[in-house]
Amino acid sequence: MERAHLVDVDPNEDALEDAQAEQEDGQQHRLPRQSADEGEDDQEERGRRKDESEHPVGIDRRTAEDVEAGEEELHDDAEQKENRHPEEEHSRLRHAGILPPMAVVTQREFGLFIDGEAVEPASGEVRELTEPATGAPLAKAAMAGEADVDRAIEAARAALEGLWGKTPPNERSRLLHALADAIVANRKELTELETRNVGKAVSSVKGEVAVSAENFRWYASAIASIAGRTTPIGGSILAYTLKEPVGVAAQIVPWNYPIMMAAWKLAPALAAGCTVVLKPDPATPLTVLRLAELAAEVGIPAGVVNIVPGDGPTTGSYLVRHPGVDKVAFTGSTATGSEIMRLCAEPVKRLSLELGGKSPNLVFADANLADAVPSSVYAIYYAAGQSCDARSRVLVERSLYDEFVNSFSETAARMKVGDPLDAETQMGSLISQAHRDKVHGLVETGRKEGAEVVTGGEPTDGDGAFYPPTVLAGVENRMAVAQEEIFGPVVTVIPFEDEAEAVRIANDVKYGLTATVWTSDPGRGHRLARQIKSGVIGINLPNTAFPGLPFGGYKQSGFGREGSLETIEMYLETKTIFVSTGGKPVNPWGL
Ligand code: NAD
Repeated sequence: MERAHLVDVDPNEDALEDAQAEQEDGQQHRLPRQSADEGEDDQEERGRRKDESEHPVGIDRRTAEDVEAGEEELHDDAEQKENRHPEEEHSRLRHAGILPPMAVVTQREFGLFIDGEAVEPASGEVRELTEPATGAPLAKAAMAGEADVDRAIEAARAALEGLWGKTPPNERSRLLHALADAIVANRKELTELETRNVGKAVSSVKGEVAVSAENFRWYASAIASIAGRTTPIGGSILAYTLKEPVGVAAQIVPWNYPIMMAAWKLAPALAAGCTVVLKPDPATPLTVLRLAELAAEVGIPAGVVNIVPGDGPTTGSYLVRHPGVDKVAFTGSTATGSEIMRLCAEPVKRLSLELGGKSPNLVFADANLADAVPSSVYAIYYAAGQSCDARSRVLVERSLYDEFVNSFSETAARMKVGDPLDAETQMGSLISQAHRDKVHGLVETGRKEGAEVVTGGEPTDGDGAFYPPTVLAGVENRMAVAQEEIFGPVVTVIPFEDEAEAVRIANDVKYGLTATVWTSDPGRGHRLARQIKSGVIGINLPNTAFPGLPFGGYKQSGFGREGSLETIEMYLETKTIFVSTGGKPVNPWGL
């Protein structure tokens, strides 16, 4: 998801450095546990000391002896080097200590996060997590069972009825700012942990961590918007409304943007005064658990943020069905969203759904191709296409079709695919080998349906879950590859004759999340923005989200909006109060 945000609208810039500079310029007094004199290196050292003292297993940093051993190993292996894939080579160099050391604790065992602290799971289940780009072990993470969910909901309820329920908006705002500061202060660890856990390019993850901080900051300010109103209805009646937190929120997020999705969910809930039990995907809970630790460190009271990683059909379903949950907020696939909607129907639970997408990218013959081609490449291959807003259906005006397909495919083939931790990498690995198999299966379906694979289309060899940028041309919109969310680095390119057909094809899909229009005719851009059934439209711009602007879907892409004032509303109930201000007795029937 190419997130434009306050500190960085250019995805190539180092957003986190900017955010840090901003911190150092004017906001040092708000940094948690940081004196005004402390520089970045001190912060890093502080983080390292903390990690080393708190966690039983050391940082993955090689000693001098290890490096020598690694170098020896490298020399021994030199002949095989030429046969290796670049990502394998990078990984080897990292592990041999030749490439820069990493900032995160590896082999750490993460607990659940309940009632303000890391706890052992009652379920007793601990899973080994591996790096999708290398297959190497990364960390161990506890998985929550039903008893753990019960405990988390109990803690959330107690916090709601206790300290958090009494915490005034200005204090909630201060705490959200403090959490944003803590994310910035710990950005290197969070970025590396996320990169290694998800396999995405570090250049993308940097922006996502920065945007997570910005998101908390934006909601810290947006708290000021929470207010009821008085409505003059005449007579001797005073009428006003109150806004109250909806209660305990169950939040479920997917694996593609773990920390950013958690930030999108947590910040509006906390701004509204709710407490939360959040379930990350079992494969990617690490940064979300660190986020909860940071929340506790900056003073967010125990029980307000609880994290229960676990499988969806068991732990997730139990959480959704739990009678102690007042509102469910879900981000994930349309199939799961539909199941969750069913579970919420009988108890009439408040619900918001951010679901899948198959978003169109319309390129007219009058478009500026110098922007349209690289931006269209970016809009599908960002996050290796594992993005709800990926513009995976490129619709091109017939007269431009062949030229566009060639130019797009050449540009896609030039992308740097490789070690996610390499700053130059533009596309890392997919989330798992199993997911890569699913993506490849859909490409095979496309071949059988008659699509032409112009570039890519075969899995990369090696341990990592890599799949190359793939272009399917000669696609018709009725084909499965044009209708189903592939959720990988695969684009379908479909021709159209004129504007009316472009709109028809764009809307001829069950999803409606985002769309982009490339044209040099401003009137056409605005006209199409009204005609395309999507929650977000870009005109000559691939970006889809910015803190403060609503993000969400039409049709089966869900309902409710993230990232905006609309989101806070989803965590509030509105109560209407009528008051008699007349001096007369109130006796409507004259009894
Ligand atoms: P998924 O639906 O399989 O899983 C998402 C989450 O739901 C995970 O935490 C999973 O454990 C949980 N889950 C699964 N079954 C459940 C059940 N029966 N009850 C409760 N929880 C359950 O989706 P995924 O494959 O992990 O994520 C990719 C999907 O998410 C894509 O469709 C993508 O478009 C969508 N997505 C949407 C947005 C958005 O903002 N619209 C953002 C990111 C991802």
